[in-house]
This record gives sequence, structure tokens and C-alpha cells, in this order.
Amino acid sequence: MAVKSQTILVVGGGIAGITTAVEAAETGYDVVLLEKEPSLGGRVTKLNRYFPKLCHPTCGLEINYQRIKKNPRIKVMTLCEVESVSGAKGDFTVSVKRSPRFVNANCTACGKCADATSVEIPNAFNYGLDKIKGAYLPHEHAFPMRYVIAPEAIAADGAAIKAACAYDAVDLGDQGETFNLNVGAIVWATGWRPYDASKLSMYGYAMADVITNVEMERLASHDGPTHGQILRPSNGEAPKKIALIQCAGSRDLNHLPYCSRICCLGSLKHAAYVREQYADAEVDIYYIDIRAHDKLESFYVRLKNDPQVHFVKSKPAAIQADDNGNPVVCGEDTISREVYARPYDLVVLATGMEPSSACGKASIEIELDAYGFMVPKAGEVDGQISAGVASGPLDVSMSVQSATAAALKAIQAVSSNA
Ligand SMILES: Cc1cc2nc3c(=O)[nH]c(=O)nc-3n(C[C@H](O)[C@H](O)[C@H](O)COP(=O)(O)OP(=O)(O)OC[C@H]3O[C@@H](n4cnc5c(N)ncnc54)[C@H](O)[C@@H]3O)c2cc1C
Repeated sequence: MAVKSQTILVVGGGIAGITTAVEAAETGYDVVLLEKEPSLGGRVTKLNRYFPKLCHPTCGLEINYQRIKKNPRIKVMTLCEVESVSGAKGDFTVSVKRSPRFVNANCTACGKCADATSVEIPNAFNYGLDKIKGAYLPHEHAFPMRYVIAPEAIAADGAAIKAACAYDAVDLGDQGETFNLNVGAIVWATGWRPYDASKLSMYGYAMADVITNVEMERLASHDGPTHGQILRPSNGEAPKKIALIQCAGSRDLNHLPYCSRICCLGSLKHAAYVREQYADAEVDIYYIDIRAHDKLESFYVRLKNDPQVHFVKSKPAAIQADDNGNPVVCGEDTISREVYARPYDLVVLATGMEPSSACGKASIEIELDAYGFMVPKAGEVDGQISAGVASGPLDVSMSVQSATAAALKAIQAVSSNA
């Protein structure tokens, strides 16, 4: 089919989608970057630090936001999702649905709208570990730096919120919209979501002091619910004995049959967070085998040399509550053969990355592998390409490499009349 549009659509504004967008635009192509959330950055915005150097994710993201701001070829659309795709390489028609933000581009992020409402909603940025006002900035480094108003706050306090805004930025009549885009190639960079720990009935996620790895990232973050202090959710006290459970639901035919590749490194990072904060804390890492790939081996060795970080080769059978409601990790050590039942102050489940299912809509035809990840090879042929964790479990550096490759494939798709 002849190329009718050379515009590249990137769906998903995480690190992979952002990378694809800036690489393609800086090569001279027009790009539309579509994100379903109110701001860009994806899951990495919610990480406290990156392994192995333990640097802050905001640093790398901020550089990319500057590249986006400076490049008129990139159009960012937030709160947008693809409804359907028709056509073929070089001439796709994509139907997009925008959800209402109730705030327009006049917003200066002054926060007066938040002062004007008493409605509180669960804080999605902190995985619901705390609450925020119904008129909110998604997080302190949000891009775009613009408030969002929840429908509940509009219903309860709409008039007061509008009156509080000195910039005429509140649009109470925003109903969202559906519109079409004509593009020549589509890069799906829709990423992942954490595997639902409540499906792991043997691991007692309902207990207050059993949390997931993504929640641990928020507890350790300065803009998290505890302002960066890792505290027991049950009583707000500092934990002294912490268990990190590897492969919680991963490499398990009943849950995620595959390895997410990053969980071992994530847990080693969590051991480092704990040891940085608490000189007297003891950390036990329960593992099947430690998968610290290529250069990341040295990070593993660093933690292995810490006498207060212990590695227990065992996949725990269960996590039960003792009489005081504290979690007790039960199982058998596969080296010593000891059958154990050990109480902890805090247990962290290293749950894996599940592909974002949003693109599994019947109206969108894209080939998926047995686990729900998008098959990249097919994309090269038909102008639909996958990038980042949408294509398989990857860490950030691998996601960036995959995204750069996707930008090149998309450019090839819109450059050729073949
Ligand atoms: C506990 C934990 C710790 C980790 N720590 C590290 C670390 O220290 N270092 C490291 O290198 N990696 C780490 N990772 C891995 C890292 O999070 C991923 O590599 C990274 O998030 C991949 O980025 P992505 O853009 O592919 O996906 P995401 O970050 O998931 O971004 C996808 C984006 O697409 C959007 N989206 C989804 N569906 C749609 C749709 N239908 N329409 C529009 N938008 C959509 C989402 O809202 C999101 O913004 C960690 C992972 C976990 C689980």
C-alpha cells in the first residue's frame, strides 16, 4: 500500500514510548505520543531508584521531557486511548478516545483547585497506599505539569473549584471526545502492570505487613506515602526483620509462567534501600535462583557481601499470620532441608510484570505471544511495532534499546512505498 501518512503514532508514554517518540522526531518525522494516564513517564516514575547505580529515574525522564518540549514534531496527548485501528502500513485510521481532565492548558499548577475541594480519592501514583485531594497533580514531576480533577470532586465541589481558579483553567463541561488520527505506522509501547498479588492466596497479601515490590518502591520514595521512610504499614514502626520473596507468582504455571527478568535485581535493590535506612536491620531473600543478568552480577555480589543480607534457597510454601497478626514465612530450605516458620516485621512479594492488556481489544488486531506480549517480528511487516515491556519483560536500558529499534522500524515503514 502507498504511504499516505508519514506520521508515527506511539501508544504509551512510558520510557519506551517516550524514547521512540524523541528518536523518530529528532530524525525528522512527525510523532503523536498517546498516553492513557494524565502524565507521561509510565511505571518508572513510580520507582524510587534505578538499579544498579541507584540513581533517580526522574533524572533520565527530565532530559527526555526537555527533548519533547523543544521538538515541535512531537504532539503529546494524555488521557487518550486507542479505540480501534483500521487500514494498513502507510495509511492507518486510528480512533482515539480522550477522557476528561476538566482542566485546560491555562493551568499553572498553583493548586488552588485542590484547596477548594474536600473530596479525597485513593492516590493511584502510590498504588492506593494513601489518599489525595480530588483535584490533584498526578505527582510532583508530572509532565505535563497540569492538574486533573476527578469526576467525584466535580460532582461535589465543581462550582467552588471553578471559582477558586484565577486562570480560567477549570472546564466543568469537559466531556472528553473521540476523534480519528491518520498515521503511517504504530508503535505499541503500552508496557506492563504488576501481577495481582491478591491472586496469590498462599501469600497472605491481605495482611498489612505483606506488601508488593512496587509498593516497596513507593514506601522508599521521598514523595511516597511515608516520605521515603520504610515503615511497617500496620503500626508505622521501623521494620527490623524483612523477608523478600522472589518469584511471587512468577515461573508458576498457575500464575505467570515466565520470569520477568527484573524482580531479582528489584529485590536486591530493596535490600539496599533497607540497609541504607536501618543499620541494624536483617534482610532474608528467599529465591529459587538469582537471575542477575550480565553486568548486573556485580550488584548481586555487593549485596551478597553484606553480612546482614541472607540468601535462603527456597520458594516459601505459605505466609501465615501469627497470633499478633505478624507475617510468618513457612517452607523448606532446599539446601539445609530445614523446615522453617519465621516471623517478620515486613514481607515484600516480588511480583512480576504482566503485559498491559489494554491492547487486547477485539477491535485492535496485533499478534500476541502465549503470554500476551506483542510479537515484534510481525510488526515489522505490517507497520505495527512493539517496544519496551509491551514486547517482553525488559529492564529500562533494554526497553530503551528496544524503543530505539522500534523508532527505526517505524521510520522504515513510513518511508517505503513497498
Ligand atoms: C519492582 C520493580 C522495580 C524495577 N526497578 C527497575 C530498576 O531499578 N531498573 C530498571 O532498569 N528497571 C526496573 N524495573 C523495570 C522497569 O519498570 C521497566 O523496564 C519499564 O517500566 C519499562 O518501560 P515501558 O515504557 O516499556 O513500560 P511502562 O513503564 O509500563 O509504560 C507504559 C505506558 O503506556 C501507558 N499505556 C498502557 N496502555 C495504554 C493504552 N492502551 N493507551 C495509551 N497508553 C497506555 C501506561 O499508562 C504507561 O504510561 C522494575 C520493575 C519492577 C516491577
